[in-house]
Amino acid sequence: MFEFSQRISQLPPYLFAQIDKKKREKIAQGADVIDLGVGDPDIPTPKPIVDAMKRAVEKPEHHRYPSYEGMLSFRQAVADWYKRRFGVELDPEKEVITLIGSKEGIAHFPLAFVNPGDVVLCPDPAYPVYKIGTLFAGGVPYILPLKEENNFLPDFKSVPSDVLKKAKIIWVNYPNNPTSATATREFYKELIDWAREHNIIVASDLAYSEIYFDGEKPPSILEIEGAKDVAIEFHSLSKTFNMTGWRLGMAVGNEKLIAGLGKVKTNVDSGQFQAIQEAGITALNLPEEEIQRLRDIYKERREVMTKALKEAGLEVYPSNATFYLWVKVPKGFSSAQFVEKLLEECAIVCTPGNGFGEHGEGYFRISLTVPTQKLLEAAERIKGLRL
Ligand SMILES: *Cc1c(COP(=O)(O)O)cnc(C)c1O
Repeated sequence: MFEFSQRISQLPPYLFAQIDKKKREKIAQGADVIDLGVGDPDIPTPKPIVDAMKRAVEKPEHHRYPSYEGMLSFRQAVADWYKRRFGVELDPEKEVITLIGSKEGIAHFPLAFVNPGDVVLCPDPAYPVYKIGTLFAGGVPYILPLKEENNFLPDFKSVPSDVLKKAKIIWVNYPNNPTSATATREFYKELIDWAREHNIIVASDLAYSEIYFDGEKPPSILEIEGAKDVAIEFHSLSKTFNMTGWRLGMAVGNEKLIAGLGKVKTNVDSGQFQAIQEAGITALNLPEEEIQRLRDIYKERREVMTKALKEAGLEVYPSNATFYLWVKVPKGFSSAQFVEKLLEECAIVCTPGNGFGEHGEGYFRISLTVPTQKLLEAAERIKGLRL
């Protein structure tokens, strides 16, 4: 009787249906399936944050509607954190907005700046929300392939001029999900110069800035001079503080871009529960040792799993950020076929690269977000893989 709207009907098919079915079958057979598919930290939220939430939830002033742009105290904590971590100055009143998780902001942002038929430059492989938010706004995604020979950075200078004329936004995400690649300040600088020349908004997704290991800390695009003229950055407490379930994020940067997103949000949501934002302040002020403890755990897992994959003859993209490994499927397999083999022979679930877009074909993603003991077991199974 009822028909889905075109915007729903045009959504790509759910690529993991087949894997989900196979996983359920395996479990029904009694296999101890280890799921390295989802990027959702297994470690609980640090206790000081949980304790802050317990106190905050008791306060009646938090029981009423929050302000749509977020509590000023939370936005101030975000500005202070950006200053400490990146040396970036932000005006908490105008250049910071609270989000109900960064996915919410990423999905809503195109509604503020994209008219039907406008183009949004979306990387591929990528977090699917860039493309879907574009489609929901009536925009047209233009795919920027992320290729290993370019260290999974987009070749934005290759975009033809007729596309550029219609382009409103370019999405970038470094440290990158799914490839684990990182970007340099030089890359951001070139991107900003190009975006200014063509009047294109740079939307940066920095969800993984704190999941790094050796070497330089991943930069924020806002560290680059002039970035605030063209850029908005989306960030989240989800990955840094093991808070995926809490739904707390922020967007920062260009005042007009923040205001546009704010206008959309005032009309669709009424902000995030203030008790959560208060706990978020505690999170942003956690001692660095607490975050370092989490990094050390991921680092150990990364080393164990990389070694096992290499022993099995698999090629892992070298990176020192994110809790993902981006691995080449061996010759003779598609991503889907190889992921199925891993499930059949090792009872391990991974994500096929094409689940992140067609240019992810030929790879699969391993998420290091299971308890280390389980990961060691998964590594043993992979070592025994016959290719
Ligand atoms: C996890 C993730 C997010 C953050 O999601 P939240 O909605 O803040 O939980 C954003 N971008 C990418 C690429 C991610 O992987």
